[in-house]
Amino acid sequence: MNNIACFPGKYIQGRGAVNQLENMINRFGSKALVITSPSAAKHLPANFSQSGLSSRVHVEIFGGECCEKELGRIAGIIKSDKSEIVVAMGGGKVIDTGKIAADRADLPVIVVPTIASTDAPCSGCAVTYTPDGVFEKVHYQRLNPSVVLVDSEIIAHAPVRFLVAGIGDALATWFEARSCASTSSTNECGGLSTLAGKNLARLCYSILLENALQAKKDCTAGVVSQALENIIEANILLSGIGFESGGLASAHSIHNGLTALPETHSYYHGEKVAFGVLAGLYLTGAPKEEIDQVYAFCKSVGLPTRLSDLGISRTNHDGLMQVAIKASEKGSPIHHENKIITAKMVCEALLNADAAASI
Ligand SMILES: [Zn+2]
Repeated sequence: MNNIACFPGKYIQGRGAVNQLENMINRFGSKALVITSPSAAKHLPANFSQSGLSSRVHVEIFGGECCEKELGRIAGIIKSDKSEIVVAMGGGKVIDTGKIAADRADLPVIVVPTIASTDAPCSGCAVTYTPDGVFEKVHYQRLNPSVVLVDSEIIAHAPVRFLVAGIGDALATWFEARSCASTSSTNECGGLSTLAGKNLARLCYSILLENALQAKKDCTAGVVSQALENIIEANILLSGIGFESGGLASAHSIHNGLTALPETHSYYHGEKVAFGVLAGLYLTGAPKEEIDQVYAFCKSVGLPTRLSDLGISRTNHDGLMQVAIKASEKGSPIHHENKIITAKMVCEALLNADAAASI
């Protein structure tokens, strides 16, 4: 098997970066379809509504779910407008819709995340749901987004819980990439990890340890500081390349297991992934110093360290077993870990991780 890494074509981050959107669109063509939500649309540069630009840029409000029905509607607009490029601006579902729609129409996509809650913007994969919001499948695009444009000012003014959830998603990146490298498991690009994939994942973890707490304070105050810039880059770029080119393992598998319980549905992806990291440390027998470091980190930034932080009771044994069975099902990336994993072991790890939070 070959070593494979995937990257976005161009990554731009900084205060006022959204003002480069017109320039980026012009590199690919003259007719653009911008898919966005009502709350994200207010961050579009002022000239997007002025004549001249508005005649060749169609701003379309997202239907609310990344599902086949919405993808069909967007495909119809791309066809009738003869769009030459797609821009997806907003949160995860808008971005996933833009990525899939552009790939199907063989067009480039510019991704403009307005929150830093996951590492999905840079990746070449996206998830569809049923119109009622139930997970359907993962779609792999032929290429990663052509441009990822992140305006730090917009992220700094988004609710801080999104940033913290993104930190939780990014926290998993090094642990999962390390596991995949140690067992020569396939990454999300369908190959083995490169030095770049593994080492960007490692860099992601050290940037989190050094900057996350300060970045959280700065985001709460709405201030674009160097610490916040570093965390935005860790959450979106380093974690994005790190998970896709490094690979997934127990943390995301436990996240997938946790989604089986309805009580976890109001918690963000990164919040569940963070608890998956903690349980994964017990599952894999990580050294005590490392466990202590990750618990202290999660507590300091306010990521979940107990089952009750995700709405789950530790006495709900049937529920926990359901989580463990789903996490350890055949084909799950949990089997990229360096030992044979059973559902019983996952269940014990969930309880041990929960109990450790009280020590
Ligand atoms: Zn994730």
